[in-house]
Amino acid sequence: MLDVPLSPAGCTRYRRVLTAGVVTHEELLIGNRKVLTWDHSPTRSTEQRDADQDGFVERVRVIDRTAAGAFVRTETTEYSPVTQAIIWREVIVPVVAGLRVTQQQADNSGNLWLVANMIVSDAGFDQAASGSSATSVTGANCSAAQLDAAKKALSHGMGVGLTCLQHYKDTGLSLEMMFHYVARDVVIHCMAIPPKPNGKIVGARLHNCGAGQPCPSFNDPSSPIEIDVNTNFFFGLDERDQASTMFHEMLHLNFGGHGGRPPEWDPVESCQSLCFGAGSHPDGPMNPTQCSCATCLRTSKCDPRCKILPSCDQEGLGFLCPCPTGANAGRLFRTCSECLATCPSGLGCFGYSTCIPITQSGCDSTPVSCP
Ligand SMILES: [Zn+2]
Repeated sequence: MLDVPLSPAGCTRYRRVLTAGVVTHEELLIGNRKVLTWDHSPTRSTEQRDADQDGFVERVRVIDRTAAGAFVRTETTEYSPVTQAIIWREVIVPVVAGLRVTQQQADNSGNLWLVANMIVSDAGFDQAASGSSATSVTGANCSAAQLDAAKKALSHGMGVGLTCLQHYKDTGLSLEMMFHYVARDVVIHCMAIPPKPNGKIVGARLHNCGAGQPCPSFNDPSSPIEIDVNTNFFFGLDERDQASTMFHEMLHLNFGGHGGRPPEWDPVESCQSLCFGAGSHPDGPMNPTQCSCATCLRTSKCDPRCKILPSCDQEGLGFLCPCPTGANAGRLFRTCSECLATCPSGLGCFGYSTCIPITQSGCDSTPVSCP
């Protein structure tokens, strides 16, 4: 068994069990308590997390693959540490156009509602560029100087990012990020990445994560993390933007793809901006707002940790048709009245008479409802 102390006093440790040369179990411990474990079989990886060390697992992630390693399904469920009820669930399955991501969130009565239903396409893991590690970082097609710069950026990015998440008291997310960083090898692929059709420059992206590609970095946590770095762009960035870009790519390992969401509603963009700010690249992350803070920390904009930031650019995303099947299932409408008029058509949605406001303003004195 590999056993690595992660902090100077050895308070946080990473342990790994190999069976017949293959990693079958991994864990992060704080003191003697397991706070995060992964179990791996050839076709399934299962994560359990108990960030507050109370003996109750508040997050479970199950990733299924075929025997050949092709991605089948990811399901992540989070439970309230207080009531132990389900508060959030995300399912990701492959579809022809990429990955379908559905998310459900519990309301105050404990009912799970569909809050997102999106296709993450090939752009999903790109990044418009802007501690201590137990990993081995190797390069593919990188010069010695390029690999050195990428390693430094990764280490700098994770150092700042983990310190930032701990500052915001997001123990769960910092444990997830720490796990990926300390448990997995990293391969940096140096390559020229052409601009996207819309002209946007990609600084870096997860390797092999385009539409229909297996994306092992996200889908198989027992595999190495593979990051493509754009040799036409990345190495010209200043050190801060390189570090910020690497932290962005590492956030994808926990949050998955972008899914075409506005930046303040995209946890990868939101956490990057919360920890690094806007950066110098015009297409890079924005300055953090109350909404991006809330998205990153999965809280409301009224959370004291977020309230001190500038107000949101886009507080409301729209109104969501809550029915589970049919043409309008999970469809987002700009206004409440459009949603109420169109949502209930079709068999699967018949009888639905309310839509769900997707907004960060629910913590204000007058919560939004529809109708
Ligand atoms: Zn990205």
